[in-house]
Amino acid sequence: MARVRANPQFCSSKNEWKMKNNNERTAAVLGLGMMGATLAKLLLAAGYEVTVWNRNKDKSALLAEAGATVADSPGAAVNAGQVIVMCVHDYAAATSILSQTEQSGWKGKVLVQLTSGSPAEAEQQEQWAEALGARYLDGAIQAAPQQMGREDTPLFLSGKNAAWDQALPVLKVFAGSPEWLGIPAGLASSVDLATLSGIYGTMMGFFHGARIMEHAGFPVDKYAALLSGILGTFGEFIQLEGQLVHQNRFEKSESPMSISVDATARILRQAQESGIHDKFPRYVAGAFREAADKGLANEELAAMIKVLRG
Ligand code: NAP
Repeated sequence: MARVRANPQFCSSKNEWKMKNNNERTAAVLGLGMMGATLAKLLLAAGYEVTVWNRNKDKSALLAEAGATVADSPGAAVNAGQVIVMCVHDYAAATSILSQTEQSGWKGKVLVQLTSGSPAEAEQQEQWAEALGARYLDGAIQAAPQQMGREDTPLFLSGKNAAWDQALPVLKVFAGSPEWLGIPAGLASSVDLATLSGIYGTMMGFFHGARIMEHAGFPVDKYAALLSGILGTFGEFIQLEGQLVHQNRFEKSESPMSISVDATARILRQAQESGIHDKFPRYVAGAFREAADKGLANEELAAMIKVLRG
């Protein structure tokens, strides 16, 4: 392993406590893409002894300049840290990297997996880590690299309590208030998929709206400003409908389903009459038509969940 930053030298007798403390502040980061490199830099800034590994060595060199120790293999990085943070493209890459580590190097360590994946992948990786005597925590980062390390950085974790306790000091470097969702390990991935689902649904709606406005000869940047101006109150509405779904209460209270059945039919009709792309409104209007056909038109909008529950 190429030591780029000298390890502090301790006189064993008088600084024994210091060595122990230092050992607790060792971390390894596997994967130095945009996110992994940011995490490694945050740990360095927080005073951790950081060992890094990346497939492409040029990226490791940049971290070496920032003060990290560069490991020449994933196994060497795991051996050097107490908390092992991983952030690579996907679980296929993660699994391939982990298979290159020595099994004996994992005992007593905690693997914090921040690679995006599915709940099943997270749970399989937890089993792999635990079989080697390590703890496992799976995380969903809901922020861009430049937003990491802030008090309000959203970071969700799941896995066993002991893994959470062991990893918490490192997680607090990445986000002021990391949130533990509990067990099983796949919960963070579920939250990631669910929030992304909300975001992509909104973005597709935004893009379809942009086509409506282009057709009407209205500037799309002004439309974007109008839409973002109503997202705050829309967020309150989502919370209300979420509570009703959670409580299984579908009597009309705020927004009857019939309004949305008519509105989405209008959006589809306009797309067809004007000749703009109509796949998105066909899907949405179809879902609301299905709700009406199931006799839900006089219930609250939240009753859409009954269509999706099947
Ligand atoms: P990135 O910049 O594209 O970096 C990808 C990393 O994965 C690099 O270190 C790359 O190594 C490594 N990698 C890919 N395939 C590999 C393989 N087969 N074997 C070994 N290493 C491999 O991606 P990123 O933005 O850092 O994202 C990393 C993870 O964080 C992803 O799962 C992403 O969904 C998640 N995330 C990212 C963001 C964001 O805004 N960036 C936000 C939330 C979550 P090389 O350098 O050698 O190619």
